[in-house]
Amino acid sequence: MSITRREAKAAGQQKYSTGRACKHGHVCERYTQNGACVVCSRLHSKRQRQDRKSCNEYQRTYSGKNVHLLKRYLRDPKEFCFDKRTRRRRAIQRATPCWADRQIIRSVYAKCVYLNEAMRFPMEVTHAIPLQNRAVCGLHIADNLRIVSRTLNQQKGNKFDRKRAEVELMGWLRERGLTC
Ligand SMILES: [Zn+2]
Repeated sequence: MSITRREAKAAGQQKYSTGRACKHGHVCERYTQNGACVVCSRLHSKRQRQDRKSCNEYQRTYSGKNVHLLKRYLRDPKEFCFDKRTRRRRAIQRATPCWADRQIIRSVYAKCVYLNEAMRFPMEVTHAIPLQNRAVCGLHIADNLRIVSRTLNQQKGNKFDRKRAEVELMGWLRERGLTC
């Protein structure tokens, strides 16, 4: 028997059926309270249960895997909560040796700003040997700075290509007549 939702409400029925399919193609009853398809509602709550379950599982494995993060946090919450920019600023401070020529470094950044205006795509200053990396710690000196496009820089991130770095280093040494 097909009736409208309003009629079902007036009659005090919990469910009603219009005889028309829902947008997912279920020809079945609908709830009077919200007009939702019964099958859809059942599927929805099932999905929610599954999501909750997988979310809980994820959290359990995550906190299990990342005990070291928790430990680091407990050791020094303030330090841990530093945002990326602060960490980066600190990394730069740490990686700048006292003998670094700050004027040349500044000129590299100035050149980048100039290129930024001249080029069609944004340019960034990056470190050939990254400052924040597990294997290496590059220095914040002019020789380690490169001006690259932002896309390339984002692809590179803090990754370190050992082979390429070796080739570059040999080239650098050769330029200065330090190798045979
Ligand atoms: Zn449905």
